[in-house]
Amino acid sequence: MKGFSILAGLAMVLFSATGLRAQDSIPTKGFAAFDETGVFKPYDFNRHAVGDDEIQIEILYSGICHSDLHNVHGDWRKEEYPIVPGHEIAGKVVKVGKNVTKFKVGDYAGVGCIINSCHECDFCKNGQEHYCSNTVSTYHDHDPYHNNERTQGGYSNNYVISEDYAILIPQNADLSRVAPLLCAGITTYSPIKFAGVKAGDKVGVAGFGGLGYMAVRYLKHLGANVTVFDLTEDKRGDAANLGAERYVNVTNPDEMKGLDNTFDFIISTIPTNYDPIQYMKMLKWNGQMCIVGIPSNEDMPTISMRSFIGMADRRLFGSRIGSIPETQEAINYSVENNIYPEVEIIPADAEKITEAYDKVRDGKVKFRYVIDMSTLNKS
Ligand code: NDP
Ligand code: ZN
Repeated sequence: MKGFSILAGLAMVLFSATGLRAQDSIPTKGFAAFDETGVFKPYDFNRHAVGDDEIQIEILYSGICHSDLHNVHGDWRKEEYPIVPGHEIAGKVVKVGKNVTKFKVGDYAGVGCIINSCHECDFCKNGQEHYCSNTVSTYHDHDPYHNNERTQGGYSNNYVISEDYAILIPQNADLSRVAPLLCAGITTYSPIKFAGVKAGDKVGVAGFGGLGYMAVRYLKHLGANVTVFDLTEDKRGDAANLGAERYVNVTNPDEMKGLDNTFDFIISTIPTNYDPIQYMKMLKWNGQMCIVGIPSNEDMPTISMRSFIGMADRRLFGSRIGSIPETQEAINYSVENNIYPEVEIIPADAEKITEAYDKVRDGKVKFRYVIDMSTLNKS
């Protein structure tokens, strides 16, 4: 008992040193994976109390990104469990700290992949905090600004975040479809803008899932001529419905023929092993290819240095989500132009989330699962 009270006292000192009080910590309900098999179960935990510069969001919708699967399955590193995933978060502001100016109670707010960064490096100073080497991830991380608290994501009923890293969602947004814009949206919007794609450009989208769908929407909105590459016949009609001029089933070698030297820009969202050089060869002279898909370590493609020597000044670049200001820009742009993902809404239920993971892995989702977290708030 004595040991317990000393520990509790220490915790109180630590909390009060940061202006937070342990008793104000926020009980949270969510769903966690307890190991790499990705079976979800209900999981209760506490979030830190709302600080002076922070807001509390009642989560209403949370998207399921393929990165959530990679993280839960430990595809990129050894993970610490339990993990409550979710970095495509949309909800309502229910509390604001006393210094908060960007939000008021009742506003809609979003959270993407990062919730803080170092504030000191060149990236942070130049509004590119998403490339800071000390970003704090929305989940499966430890938050050095809050006593190293374990971060847990959006498959839960609330989130607490600094206003600087939260996104203001316009009041007229379609809230059930807005959440995936916080990752799938910005991750494709950003490199398309960076590459300077313009009307009439011939462009390719490799991998037509959650990210690929958004890429096609943005590219068509710009007036580009779009070719979609995917593994299955199931999505040929969907690509046509979005206005894509061509659909290539990459499992059919004949459809892959005759495409070399034809594209101004290609974005690859492919999450598995493939040959990036095959796509680079499809670029025109000086064309650009952006890689955003991140296969697991075991499935990671390798590129031969030799193959770069006849690359005709084509450029290959990578891109990670987007900055907080650019995410705000992408959300405003998408809502204004009615550019949303196609979503399948599922209830906040452990079995349904587990099932959704299997379907994403098997390519059986059109095009993004979104968990209706409000069903958890009501339970
Ligand atoms: P999805 O699973 O929704 O979509 C992936 C799509 O790629 C599916 O349609 C899949 O087909 C297709 N595909 C798989 N293999 C191939 C192949 N060899 N050739 C063509 N198409 C293929 O995933 P997301 O869109 O959510 O995510 C995609 C990737 O992007 C993930 O690796 C994710 O981690 C990464 N990502 C990166 C970010 C960044 O900042 N750079 C941010 C967010 C995500 P099928 O469905 O038939 O299997
Ligand atoms: Zn994501």
